[in-house]
Order: sequence, then C-alpha cells, then structure tokens
Amino acid sequence: MNSEELFRKLLGLEEPWIIKEIKFDHKEKRVDIFIDFPRGSRFPCPVCGIPYGVHDTEERTWRHLNIFQYPAYVHAREPRIKCNDHGKKTVDLPWARKGSGFSLHFEAMIMEMGREMPVSAVSRIAGINEDSVWRILKHYVDETRKDVDLSDLKVLGIDEFSVEKHHVYVTLFYDIKNSRVIHIEEGKESDVFGKFIMKHPFLDPSGIEHITMDMYPSYISGAKEYFPASEIVFDHFHVIKMMNDTLDKIRRKEARENEILKHTRYDWLKNYPDLSEKERDRLMSVKSLDLQTSHAYHFRIALQRLWQVNASIAESYLMKWISWASRSRMPDIIKLGKTMKRHLNGILEAIRSGINSAVVEGLNNKIRTAFKRSYGFKAQKYRDTIIYLVAGGLKLPPEC
Ligand SMILES: [Zn+2]
Repeated sequence: MNSEELFRKLLGLEEPWIIKEIKFDHKEKRVDIFIDFPRGSRFPCPVCGIPYGVHDTEERTWRHLNIFQYPAYVHAREPRIKCNDHGKKTVDLPWARKGSGFSLHFEAMIMEMGREMPVSAVSRIAGINEDSVWRILKHYVDETRKDVDLSDLKVLGIDEFSVEKHHVYVTLFYDIKNSRVIHIEEGKESDVFGKFIMKHPFLDPSGIEHITMDMYPSYISGAKEYFPASEIVFDHFHVIKMMNDTLDKIRRKEARENEILKHTRYDWLKNYPDLSEKERDRLMSVKSLDLQTSHAYHFRIALQRLWQVNASIAESYLMKWISWASRSRMPDIIKLGKTMKRHLNGILEAIRSGINSAVVEGLNNKIRTAFKRSYGFKAQKYRDTIIYLVAGGLKLPPEC
C-alpha cells in the first residue's frame, strides 16, 4: 500500500475523492494533505441524492489529527452542485461535517478529551482555541440530544441544582432507570413540569408511573397538576438529604457557641463506614457529649434504619420515629417529623416500589466536578452542554 492509498483509507475517502499530494514540511513542522477529484466527477445532491456534475468549488482547509507530533491539514476544493429541485448545494464531504473547519477524526478526539478534562486543557493539547472546543462539544451534544428516546421513561426524578455560588437554581430532570439527565429547566417553580412536557412532545405523561423528588411544595403541586396519573414518591436519597439539612442546621447554630463542633460537618453527614479513622475518632469523642447535634444525629441514624427494616413494618417504624421526633423538644426535629408525617404515603410508596434515586447524587457530583474544572463565564454560557456531556448518558463521540 503506498502512502496515498494509506491516507485515503485513514480519511475514509471514497470515489471520486483521491489524494493528490502529501507534503511534510520539516521546518514548519506540519503535514499537508491535498485531496481532489477527477474532472467530470459527479456528486449526489445532499437533499435528494441525485448525482450532478460540479457547479463550482471553493478552496478550503480542515485541521486534522496530528501525524506523530506534527499537526496535519487537509486541503480540498469543496464542490457545489446545482440540483434541479434544490438549487445550489454544497456536497457532503466524507472527512468533515458541513461548516466545520475540523476533520471528523479531529472532532471525535476533542469529544473524547472533553468528557474527561477541562476545556482549557483540551484546547492546549489540541492546539485550537477554547471557543472552538466549546462549539464542537455543543454541536455534538445538541445533535445527539435530538435522538434522545424517552419512550420507556417510567420513573422520573427531579432535583434542584445550583449552578453557581450565587444560588441560581435550575431543575434537573432524570431518567432514574437509565441514570441520566434528560432535561434542564430554569428555576424551581411548579411550572417546570409544564415546560418539560412542552419541550418533549413525544413524551406521554401518563406513561410515567413514579416521580421521585424533594418535599418541595412547588414540585409537589407541579407534579400533581401536570402528571396527575403519576405517583409522587420521596425516596431514601431525598429523605436523608432533608434529614441531613436539618442536622446540619442544628450543628451550625450550636457551633456558634461550641467550638468543638467547628469543622465537624461531614463527620455527622457521611455514613459511618465512609468516615476516615480521624473522622471516626472525632465523631466518637463529640457524640457522647450532651449536645443538640448528637441528639439530632441519633434521629438520623434511626431514620436510616427505615430502609433496613422489613417493608411490612416500615409504616409502624416510621410512625414511631415521627412520634419520637414530636417529643424531642428540638424545634427543627419536631418540624421535620411533621413534614415526614405529611408525606408519609410518598415515603412508604418509595419503599414499597423499591425506587431509589441514589443515581441523582452520583450524576450531580459528576456535574459539580465538571463545573469546577471549567469555571468562568464559558461554564455559564455552555452550562447545558457541560451537564449533558457528563451526565446525559449520550452516545458520544460520534461515529466517523
Ligand atoms: Zn436535490
């Protein structure tokens, strides 16, 4: 196989495309690949597929992958045909998508790197500017999202997500079974459900059996209004999140008067087996003290057991916990107990149906990590691209 034939294969070129010349410039440190087609070649109209002779051409260059350490560029005359039905059309090229200055192989490499590293690093390694990297990521994410299939969506999860430090909230919609973010909506009011339905015209709301969420009044009323046939559930993840918020609120208040509680936040919130030895020792020494925080901690431990007891006694167990909370003499715990009582059915239904949205936490962590590494205003502008790229479960990079 000669080098022209090799490059023809590597670029996926088919008739009538040929490699005219390959130039390696040692001084300039670059490889230039010149592609062409023989006189009299015909190309199919990109709309109807009927082949036509070339109407006119435009000289263009595409950035391709490096060949060893040298950047490579593809040069060609991009042909236009004049279709009887569709007028002047630029033909489809086998090595690049329309309008892009990069080859498909190059873009696939950018997508691959973009999932794992900060855009600034991708930009530096690939030798193209950050804007170009963002545009490639956005293009493929948007393209792939067009084919997202929600026909087997049975368990919908929703959760608020704060994308920056200044408490700007979006609501994320999750496909719990397939562990992916399927929709992003501004705000956290009840109408986010309506907007979600509007933007997914093929979604059948009555096909959604369960919606799992926080006990936010606006989410609950929105779900009831827009998904009247679905059952609202509050699963382990959301219940414990609420318990943890209460526990941390109590600790923060108490820490103002009690130095010993400073810097112990995660000792109380993490599961015991996940604590380091140092954290365990610290927790043990503080837990035995007569503190509001340690009392609240026992409520958390007891509440967690709800998911370990037999489902048949879950209701009586939870009722006991609620009654214990009502006698706690801690206003925040009493309030939490009342909330649990009001949402008893949703909590028990989550246990009965075995719905668990722990995947939400995993996806949220992935998203947070991605935002941390691509901080700055681009992260705002390309917010949805970042979220779908790391948590959308999309089949990327594109085939080429
Ligand atoms: Zn046509």
